Parts: sequence; structure tokens; C-alpha cells
Amino acid sequence: MADVVPPTHAAGATPAERAPYDMPEFTRSLRGFASVAGLQSRSHALVFGPLLAARRSAMRVQAAQSRASAFDAARLRKSLDDAIAAISAESAEGDGPTERALTARLEEAAAPVFEALDSLRARADDVKRAAPAVPAAQWDAWCRAVQHLFDAADAFWLRTSGIAPESRRGPLRLGIPLVLAMLLGWSPGAAGAQHATLRVTGAAPESLLRAGFDVVGAAGGGVLVVAGPQEQARLASLGFAATLMPAPAAIPPAGRGPGGAQAKSPVYRPFDDPIRGVAAWADSIARANPRVSLDTIGSSYEGRPILALKVGPRGDGPLRQNVAFLATYHAREWAATEMALRLVAYLAAPPGLDARRDSLVQARDIWVVPVANPDGYQYTFTSDRLWRKTRSPHGTAVGVDMNRNHTVNWGLDDIGSSPIPDSDIYRGPSAASEPETRAIETFLAAHPPVASISYHTYTGLIMYPPTAVYGQLPADLPVYRALAGTNVRSAAADNLPGSLSNYYSPGPAWLLYATNGDYTDFASARLGALAFTQELTTGYGQGGYYGFEFPDDETLLGQMFSDALPFALDLLDAAAAPRAFTSASTGRGVDALTIESASPAIRAIVPAPDAPRAAVIRDAPVPFRVDSAAGGRYMRRLVTADSGREGAFSVKWAGNNASFRLLAVSGAEPHDQPWIADQFVADTLLRRAGTRSWKGTNGTLTSPPVAVPAAIDTVSLAFWNVHFGSNFSPLLKATVEMTVDGGSTWTLIAMVRGFAPEWYPEEVVLGGMRGKTMQVRFRTDAMQWQLDEIAVVGHTANAVVPSGGDGAIVPSENPVRLGTVRLKWPWPDKSGDLIAYDFSGREVWRRRVADGSTTSWDLATQNVANGVYLVVARSGASVARLKLFVARRTP
Ligand SMILES: [Zn+2]
Repeated sequence: MADVVPPTHAAGATPAERAPYDMPEFTRSLRGFASVAGLQSRSHALVFGPLLAARRSAMRVQAAQSRASAFDAARLRKSLDDAIAAISAESAEGDGPTERALTARLEEAAAPVFEALDSLRARADDVKRAAPAVPAAQWDAWCRAVQHLFDAADAFWLRTSGIAPESRRGPLRLGIPLVLAMLLGWSPGAAGAQHATLRVTGAAPESLLRAGFDVVGAAGGGVLVVAGPQEQARLASLGFAATLMPAPAAIPPAGRGPGGAQAKSPVYRPFDDPIRGVAAWADSIARANPRVSLDTIGSSYEGRPILALKVGPRGDGPLRQNVAFLATYHAREWAATEMALRLVAYLAAPPGLDARRDSLVQARDIWVVPVANPDGYQYTFTSDRLWRKTRSPHGTAVGVDMNRNHTVNWGLDDIGSSPIPDSDIYRGPSAASEPETRAIETFLAAHPPVASISYHTYTGLIMYPPTAVYGQLPADLPVYRALAGTNVRSAAADNLPGSLSNYYSPGPAWLLYATNGDYTDFASARLGALAFTQELTTGYGQGGYYGFEFPDDETLLGQMFSDALPFALDLLDAAAAPRAFTSASTGRGVDALTIESASPAIRAIVPAPDAPRAAVIRDAPVPFRVDSAAGGRYMRRLVTADSGREGAFSVKWAGNNASFRLLAVSGAEPHDQPWIADQFVADTLLRRAGTRSWKGTNGTLTSPPVAVPAAIDTVSLAFWNVHFGSNFSPLLKATVEMTVDGGSTWTLIAMVRGFAPEWYPEEVVLGGMRGKTMQVRFRTDAMQWQLDEIAVVGHTANAVVPSGGDGAIVPSENPVRLGTVRLKWPWPDKSGDLIAYDFSGREVWRRRVADGSTTSWDLATQNVANGVYLVVARSGASVARLKLFVARRTP
């Protein structure tokens, strides 16, 4: 309690003698009122303004009862109510439920002010009753009541601003939204303490991650952080400025049944509800459907079962590959559980409608864990919608981030996870400290999946390992790319209305941010799985940002599911023989040799069994190491030391010998061939080799023309790069385009996104380049991008060998110069589909082949453009591929 300034009348004087009745200054002792933070703060004006106005009115009159009337408790009460309403309305931005919730919180915080007003009213009544000759004791009591009111208002403003008066960092300049952000978590009882989404400005995502905050997105030039009460206080104490994100707006009932008459019914299911909870749902589908069995693979901290649904034949089949789908490591990601439940229902539907699905269900052991974290999930339905962690106690804090608690790379650093129990990315006291994590690790060790997806929300990404170290690429990168695709052609579309992106962006997980102890590093490194984390939806819809709170809407959830389903089916399909798989979704298969970099180091990816006896030769054999980061069950990366830009090299493995010639290299070095740089500059600060790299943020970097010799048909474009974008922002991207007609037309051949602070190589294979003059250009728009050792590598002999498949598609000619090409079906006694994809992966032609016949593709009638095409023959699990070059003379 602040000191009360005593009235200044002489002791012992009679009431009549001491008129006019003196008043203390009231504001002298206040902390928040006088703080710098108060300046420019609208909440400051709203809270203190009416009190100051009353004091001015009281100063203009002399009589005790007039002064008492100037501090009209009823009017002040109304002013405070109005202030609370105004602050709530302003912050909720039109969202009714949020506004009501904020009003309730503010009223709770303002209770001491209301009490002070009540006692002021009582003291004022005493003064008015005694007037005109008011005894000193009564006047003093009234003065103390006014001072108490000022003090209470000051405390209210301070607490709701989240400012620690004693902070050595000095007062913070914070606006109304932080008042509310702090209030959201302010209630002292845990029951009322909720997580909220805050937008933090003036801080990089990495610094927030480093401080252990739960970074979930980007919006309006700020970083989105979800924080509970302790984390909100920590955010404020560290000096970060934050504003509260409004709760998602209600979604308009678009796309409903005829006439829009269908009532909106809730879709999401809590865990425990005995009628419609997840456990009840799982139980009932397992009872009703012979294709579904239900297992409990362990218990949560609070004793809930961790459920695994198996679809297909009962029991483990030694000849059936395991494929695992997990969901909702993070409690608040309800749409992920919907994805898992829908996948079970789809796979378990009566056979007959979809032959591919039916054969996959029979041929695989499919496991679905719909809620990996049932305690946290249930808690989001009862207590805190944005809760993320488990519910085990750790000192005064609760919960562990399960996706930082796995036993591979656990606690590698404090950026990818936090040692602070209050943090929402707390990794736990030890690896697999959580019973939920242990249950999953034990179960999967007994049923090691060939392929796996862990479903999360949101950001619209398909992420694969490694996750813990920036710049690292998986040894199985060609397999991951065949399955997930690239930004030019991804395995999954996003057709949700209002989404920020129309596709799911594939890539190593650190492009979002590096984490440690996550599921994919565990599943790939420990179990050899092709492991993906799919972040469902971009978090934006027609109503704007919704983040984790994907609408409770059957139509929208159905759309999300049908967008994500093809990738899940591709994984089931590929599990039989991942290296031999060619994805119809991405149009890619796995080449037996990938040249990832030709300068300053040679990096080549070859089949894993052949790696130890492979050779890299530049005149003489060059020493290399085998990089087995993150699994490498199928492929291995051979990496030589940096050795400059010698013109030719070859790679030998398992009887194959592929040779290459560098046709052009640039690393922005002074003696390099000149490039056309438009707002790109040579930078000496960051470089992969030599003394410089190219750096641009808004600009274009165009290569000089490169003549491809007539003896070389296929070239690789390989380059090293770092980029400082964000995978929270799909619009931040950079592209690579190619022209072979002197710049009249440019074709998109690569696109990079995300945050990559460490150098890593990218490569694109281009076929049909014989005798052409090519140029490439690199363009970035608002993302800092640095490029080094950009190499055009000609494949001079036997360079790309299709792997896998048990037959060969034989064309009548290749390259194709006539109007029709005949394609011989690879298998004499099997029927199937023959499909042609263009360079961007678009299907351009498809034919059902009934037997081992020869099929004709009429290019002339179809106006098929010249270029490279991928022809895929598919029959059950058998796949064959052919790279077909079309080089017709234009009519
Ligand atoms: Zn998540």
C-alpha cells in the first residue's frame, strides 16, 4: 500500500476554521500512472482519465460536500465499465465470444477498484451527512478512500499491463493488446489460466525459440507465439512486445447441403466422452467393422489408453510391411486427430469402390494412433484450448512436449527444445521421460514401419528428417523427394478456401526450424522408417487466421482429408519397395545415381549396398566419406573434400560407370565468367567456397548462355545456397528458371522456401538438352538468398540409370521425332496403366493396357510440346519408368 499523504490542516483546528477542505495530490505515490509505459497508452487514458477529471472538478470547488460529489462513485464506476468494454471491444476486433471473455477477465482484475469505489461511496455519504461542518476524522477518512481508489486503479493498470515496477530493464511501452494478453493468463487459479496466441514484434523467430518459446507462425510482420500464463509473464519480463491475436472468426456456412439448411453440428470429438469421444468411436468401429482391430499400446500419465487402430488383416503378417500413422502429439491440434479417424474410416470402408485401396489394405499392416497425447487432448476440451504438452507434473510446471521427448537427438541443444519446465517446448527431464513417448517407441520398435506420417497442424508442410541440424540432408533424399515431391510439384494439394498456399511444401524439417528429440529423427534413425511430419493446413481460411483452431466444419475437414489422402496412399503403396516406387502424385522415381554437387565438393547419392565399394574418379580415385546422416536405409551419399572445379569426373558403383563434365561454374569469383546481376551482388561475408557468393533479396541473377554439346543429352544444375525466408510465410520464396530459346520463354525448374542459415546443395536434372543453348536465372522476391558454386554438369555416359521395376518400357524411338511413338508394355502377362507426365509433373496422357501389348501415343493430334516426359507403367506393385524425349520438328 502506498503512503497516504496526510491532509495539511493543523491538528486540533475546528472544522469551520479549516475550510476549504484540503485534498492530497493523490497521484504522487502512483507507479503505473507516472511510468513511461503510460505515455501513448490508450488503456492508461481510459483508466486514469475519469479519476483525473474528478480531481480537477473537485479542485474547482471549496465545500467539502461539493468535493465529495465531484468524486461521484456511481459515475466513476460507469466510466470504468465503459473503459473495460472499450478495451475488450478494441482487442477482440468484432469477435463476440472473445470480447465477452476479455470483459469477464478485466472485470475480475478490476474487483479491487470496484471495492474502493464502494468504500468511497460510504465515506462520501458520511461527509454529505455531516456537511457543512465536516469533522476532520470524516474528511480524512474520505481523503484516504480517494487515495485508496487511485492506488487500486494504479495496481489494476500495472497488473494488466504486465509491467514489473521494479524491473531493471525499465518500463516497457506496451499497448492495450498486451494488457489483454497478460490478463488472459492472469487469473491466479490454474483452472482459469489459458494459453493464448500472441503476435510478437521486433524479434526474430530464432531468438524466441532460443528463449524457449513456442513459435507457431508469422503474421502481420510479427512472430506468432502461443503462451500460457507463466510464459506470457516471461515474455514480458524479457522485454518482448506482444499483442494478442483475436480468436478465429466464425466461419461462414459455405458449401453446406442444399439451401444451406443443414444445421452446423460439431465434428470434433473429445477423448473421454462416453458417447462420441475418440475412445468410444474407436471401440465402436472396431466392433462393427471386421477390417478394424483396436489395441491399447500403453497408458498416459493420467491413465488414459493410448489407442492404436489396425486396419486390414488381424495380427502381424511377416510378409506385410508396417505403415504407421500417428496424430496429435500436440494436444491442441484437433484437425490432426480428425485426419487420423477419417483415414481409418476410409481404409476400413467396404471393398469394391477403389481397387488400389483394397489391395493396399490387404497387403500392409496399417497402424493408426489417433491421439498420441490423450491427457493433453482431453484437457484442450475441458480447460485450455491451446494446451500443447502432456499433463505430467514437473515441479510447479505441467507437461512435456512429446515431439521433443524422443530418444534420438534428445536435448541436442537449447534452440530445438527447452530445458525450462514452464516452456511449451520443454523436452522433459530425460529422453522418453513421458509414458506416452515410451509407449510409442516400444510399440513401433516391435512393429517397425517402412513408412510413417505424424500428423500435426498447421503451416502446410510435408517435413522429413533430419530435423535437428540446419543444412543437413537425409541420405535417402531421392526417396523422400520421389514420395513428397518438391515445391515445383508436391505430393499434396491444398484446396481449402482461403488457404495461403495451394500445395503442401515438402522439405527437410529444419526449413521451418530445427528441433531435437522429434518423432521423425527417432523413426528414421532408430527404425529406418521413411518418416514424415505433415503440418495440415496453412492456418488461414476464408475468415482469416485460425491457426490451431481449424473450423469445426464437416465440409472443410472433409476437404482437408481429401487433400492429404493421396500422400498417405502413396506411402502405403511405396512401402512394398520404396526405391522402386514412382509416384504418380509427384511424377518422380528414385534414380540410381544423383549428382548433388560438383563443385567445390562432389556429392553423389548411390544405392546403400553399393556405397562402400563405390569410387569417385578425377583422373585418379578421389577419397570420399559416406555420409549416413538421418537413416540412409536405401541410399548413401558419397562426399569428397572440397577440391575445386576440375572439368570431368566419374562415379562407379556396382558395375555402373557414369561420367560427367562441368559445362559451367560460377561462384561470384573475380575470374568467373560474368553473370547478369540485377540487384544481386558479390558478397564476401557468407561463402561456400572461394572468396565470394552471390547475394540478393529482390532481384535476378542470370547465367551467360551455356552450349550443351551434341553428345550430352542430360544436364544437372547444381548449386549451393542459404536463404533467410520463413516456412511460416509461403509467399517468401525464390525460383530457378531455364530458357533454351534465348529468353523468349522461361520454365520454372526449382523453387526454394524457408529458413536455411547453413549452406546446402540443391540440384535439378534436365533431359533433352542435346545441342541446346541454355540459360538459367535465379529470382528472389523479398527473401535474402545467397548462391555459390552454381554448376551446369553434363552427363556424358550412362549417367541416369532408372532403378527398380522388373521390366522396361521400350519406345519405338527416343528421342521421338515422329508424330506417334509406340511404347512396348514391360510385362507380357500383366495389365495396368501407362501414364505420361510432362516436366512439371502434370499428367498429359494415360492409357489402360489390357495385356502385354504395344500402345501408341499420338503426339501430333494431342499437340504434345517438345521436351522431356516421364512415362510410367504400373501394374499392382510393379512399376517401370522411361524418360522420353520429344524433339519433333515443328510443322
Ligand atoms: Zn504439432
